[in-house]
Amino acid sequence: MTDFQVDTSMCVHCGLCLPSCPTYAVTGSESESPRGRVVLLDEVRRDLGGGRVPDPGAWAALDHCLDCRACEAVCPAHVPVGHAVEELRAAAPGRRSPLLMAAALGSPSGVRRFRRWVKAAARPRVRRVLGAGRSLPAPWGPMLALASGAPAAPQVPEDSRDLSAGSGEVVRFFWGCVMEGLYARTNRRSAELLRRVGYRVQVEDAPLCCGALARHQGDPEAARRWARSVIERFEESGAAMFVTNAAGCGAAFKEYDAWFRDDPAWAERARAFARQVRDLVELVDPDRLPLARTEPDRPVTVHDACHLAHAQGIRDEVRAILRHLGVPVVEMSEADLCCGSAGIYNLTHPEMARALRDRKVAGIPAGVSRVVTSNPGCMLQIQSGLRESGLSIDAAHWVDVVYEALYEGEEARLAAPR
Ligand code: SF4
Ligand code: SF4
Repeated sequence: MTDFQVDTSMCVHCGLCLPSCPTYAVTGSESESPRGRVVLLDEVRRDLGGGRVPDPGAWAALDHCLDCRACEAVCPAHVPVGHAVEELRAAAPGRRSPLLMAAALGSPSGVRRFRRWVKAAARPRVRRVLGAGRSLPAPWGPMLALASGAPAAPQVPEDSRDLSAGSGEVVRFFWGCVMEGLYARTNRRSAELLRRVGYRVQVEDAPLCCGALARHQGDPEAARRWARSVIERFEESGAAMFVTNAAGCGAAFKEYDAWFRDDPAWAERARAFARQVRDLVELVDPDRLPLARTEPDRPVTVHDACHLAHAQGIRDEVRAILRHLGVPVVEMSEADLCCGSAGIYNLTHPEMARALRDRKVAGIPAGVSRVVTSNPGCMLQIQSGLRESGLSIDAAHWVDVVYEALYEGEEARLAAPR
């Protein structure tokens, strides 16, 4: 008998969540909506509990859930649909993608392999070859197409600068596996930005994974292994806060208390850790920033990463910083609708992910120079859509926009982690 703990019984079937759900927006189908998924969850849980094989159609509709939390953010009854689907995936380990899991997750060497792969895929010559890969079966075709959105390998200047000098509060900055693999320069700029707004910054000497990708893929034990390492290193550091610039990682860190709810040895440590986690944008007070040195020539638009807006409730902060810098923001339509990235959803569910990506690109207003966001998966996904559409617009992390406006020519110099 499978024991499901995430309670969805408070759903009153009001339908207020429907307009927020990306899969409902694409399909218009009740079974692809949060309300429909609550009904299907009951059915599938009953089947699993009774030892019956669930209906494949019900499984498929549940598995299409992006775990974007948009429904949870608007639901008056706080029904945790995304969490419930995540729990269900964990109850069906045979449905995981072992290939992807083995390639990217589960061990420090897995992350190093993953970093090497994304760095290799980011090279311009490799990218040209990858463009032809879309007809390959999943996950290879979508993986190769997605890699076309990867930035050219950044030349990260390497020397060591002591970011921990000064008298401010000590914070620990998390490199992250995907951020460090693809957006290492943004990581350097993030750590330097923290220093410039008054913190003493510690950085890791080797990158860890937050565990979110494993959890989304239905492997909570692998996710908890990562989480224990993260918590241990943070405890040893003595830092007052743990900071990330990746929305997906931040949402995972802030939920570590729930990950260890049933583990007496770790529950309190995870709770204490989760309380100290901040997204970088929470620590950058616009009023502590100088005025921009360079005038932006064109406006930007903002894509709200699901795991910042819906999972962490952080919506206005990026816009406030941009406004302070004098960067004009033109809102896109459906700014907080998922772009289809959702961990590795764009590899496991390429058709839905592509539909959402194309919808996101179609919502970009004319005349903007950049789509500004706060999560590496979103940047990669949206950039691949922009490239394919032939638009000369970049997807960028907000840190890059801030850094270029304030400190152009003063590239952050910091040794890369091993
Ligand atoms: S999940 Fe929430 S918003 Fe959606 S139908 Fe149920 S109660 Fe209403
Ligand atoms: S988590 Fe996202 S995709 Fe899943 S049901 Fe809720 S809104 Fe829809």
